[in-house]
Amino acid sequence: VPNPFSNPPRLRFAPSPNGPLHLGHAFSALFTWRMAQRLGGIAHLRIEDIDAARSKPEFVAAIFEDLDWLGLDWPEPVLFQSTRMQAYEAALEKLGGMGLTYPCFCTRSRIAEAAQKTDPDGAPLYAGTCRHLDPDTVAARIAAGESFAIRLDMQAATALTGALSYTVIGPNADRPQIRFARPERFGDVVLARKGLPTSYHLAVVVDDAAQEITHVTRGRDLEAATDIHVVLQFLLGLPTPWYAFHRLIRDAEGEKLAKSRDSRSLRALRESGWTPEDVRRELGL
Ligand code: GLU
Repeated sequence: VPNPFSNPPRLRFAPSPNGPLHLGHAFSALFTWRMAQRLGGIAHLRIEDIDAARSKPEFVAAIFEDLDWLGLDWPEPVLFQSTRMQAYEAALEKLGGMGLTYPCFCTRSRIAEAAQKTDPDGAPLYAGTCRHLDPDTVAARIAAGESFAIRLDMQAATALTGALSYTVIGPNADRPQIRFARPERFGDVVLARKGLPTSYHLAVVVDDAAQEITHVTRGRDLEAATDIHVVLQFLLGLPTPWYAFHRLIRDAEGEKLAKSRDSRSLRALRESGWTPEDVRRELGL
């Protein structure tokens, strides 16, 4: 497939070191390296460790070990999101300067109570409770030490961006299709929380651009959220890569492995005698 980007194409595998890698991660990694090979590109590694409470160095070490075992390699340096807070903060400030963000003081239960709908991920859709708080109230609540998140005013954002579309390619790096984004389904997404100047959405967009990623490979579970990402890319003046979404690996009960009780880690499989070829065969690769 011809692509409009720099040569060679740049892809990434971006695991969160919140636990051991399982077959679902192996599929995502192998899909990414295979796509890189088909495109004549290079797969990079990014460690998505913005969640300081859940990220553990031993999980990072295990990621390197598991990928090595699978026979995958990547160029150095590996990008760690925990080192990128200034870049996220700058992006957040830019969006704030455009008048597109606001602080939200709602607790989880408040959000759930006020919600009339769910978003595409099945989470309560934020009802916009804090969108039009008056500035004095906001200042007083912040001064009183109330904790808050920063949200994107999605309606204001999409009024600026207009309709957005992006290119999706199939698993064989073929059949490019144009997809129209429907970010309004997610409402006013959280961009940052107290003590953390970013969220998954903001960090992934800033870093895909910083690493000059041309083709993002990710699971179908992140397909809908990509609509949010193209909005952020537009607002921040960043390029929109092409996207390829892969199927999710499920357990015998049809549960996503991340949520499954039987999420056998790659390490456990390795210790019980599995070879990398067994993994590829199990995954139909
Ligand atoms: N870090 C995310 C995860 O582990 C994936 C990143 C992405 O593809 O945007 O699910």
